[in-house]
Amino acid sequence: MRKRLILLLIYATFAANLLSEPLLLENALKEMGYAPELQWEPFLQTGVIYDRGHFISFYTGEKDEYGVFLVDGYYIIETPLPYVEKGIIKFPEAFVASVEKAISEEMENDIGLFRVAAIIIDPGHGGKDTGAIGTPIIDGKKTTIQEKGIALTVSKDLYVQLVKAFPDKQILMTRNDDSTISLEKRVSFANAVNLAQNEAIIFVAVHCNAAPYKANARGYEVWYLPPDVRRSLINKSTFDGPAEVIPILNSMKEEEFTIESRLLASTILKRFDEVIGKSSPSRGIKEEEWYVVKKANMPSVLVELGFITNASDARLLTDSTYVKNYSNALFEGISDFVAIYEQPGGFSVFLDKDL
Ligand SMILES: [Zn+2]
Repeated sequence: MRKRLILLLIYATFAANLLSEPLLLENALKEMGYAPELQWEPFLQTGVIYDRGHFISFYTGEKDEYGVFLVDGYYIIETPLPYVEKGIIKFPEAFVASVEKAISEEMENDIGLFRVAAIIIDPGHGGKDTGAIGTPIIDGKKTTIQEKGIALTVSKDLYVQLVKAFPDKQILMTRNDDSTISLEKRVSFANAVNLAQNEAIIFVAVHCNAAPYKANARGYEVWYLPPDVRRSLINKSTFDGPAEVIPILNSMKEEEFTIESRLLASTILKRFDEVIGKSSPSRGIKEEEWYVVKKANMPSVLVELGFITNASDARLLTDSTYVKNYSNALFEGISDFVAIYEQPGGFSVFLDKDL
C-alpha cells in the first residue's frame, strides 16, 4: 500500500512540474483536445500515458536519444525518447506528435475502447488432486470437505452469473467437472484464447487455503503477480527492432498486467469484505508467483476462500449459502473491474484513488 502512495506522490509532483514546462506532453495533448493521465514508475524509469481507453507505454533515455514506445501494448513506434532533466521528465516535440498521431489513429481505426472479451475461471485442483482436505465437526459428526469441490461449486455458480450478465463475452472454465487437469494445461488453455487488439482477457483461479500445522490460521485472501517478475511477452519473433529494447518493452508490458491484476484483486477483495468480512477475516491482497498466475499472459488473480484446515472456516464452507456468498462476491468484484476497465478513460479513475 505504501508503494502506491509514493507513486501517486511522484505523479502529483510530476504533473505540477508539467504545468510550467514548454515541452509538456499534457499541455500539448490538451491543446489537441486530449486529457491524458500519466503514471510514472521512477525505479524502472518507465511510464504509461492513458487516454480514453488507449495507452502509451514509454521509457526515458538521454536527451536526443532515439528509442521506441508501445501503443496499446501492441504497436511499436520509433521516436526521440523522453528524458529526465533536473528531476523533471521532458517530452520532445516529436515524441508528443507521435503519441498524438498514434492515439488518433487508434481511434480512427475504430479499434475503440478496451473491452474485456473473455473471462477464464480456473477452479483449483480436481480429480486425483483433491487440494486441501478438512474434517470439521458438523452437528457432532465429523465431515470431510475437499478444496477441489468447493472451488468447483463456487466457479460453476460464478460462471452462470457471468454468462447471464455478459452475453457478449466468452466465459470459460478450465474444468467444469471433477477431472484432473495439469497446471500447464490450464495456462495454455488461457493463453490460447484469440483476442482482437483492443481486447483483454482476465484469469481468476479459485482455491481454498490450508495450514495443517497452524489450525488457527483463517480468513480469505486475493493474490496477484508481483511487479518484479518479468516474463518474455515480447520476443524476437514478435519484434524485429533492436534486441536490447526487448527487455524494456517487456517490463512496460509487465507493468500494465500488474496494474490490471492489482485492480482486479482490489475489486474482488472489496466485495469479499462486504459479504464475507463479518464471518471470516480478510488477509488482504498478496503477491506471489503462483504458477497459473505467473504463466498466464493476462491480468490474473488467485483467490483463497478461507482455510479448510481451520475449524470455523471449514464449518462455514459446508454451508451452501455461505459458499454462494463467495461466488456472488466474485461476480460483483469481476463486474466492478470490467466496468472500470471498459469505461471511457480506462484506468484514470483507478489512478486517482489509492487502493
Ligand atoms: Zn489450492
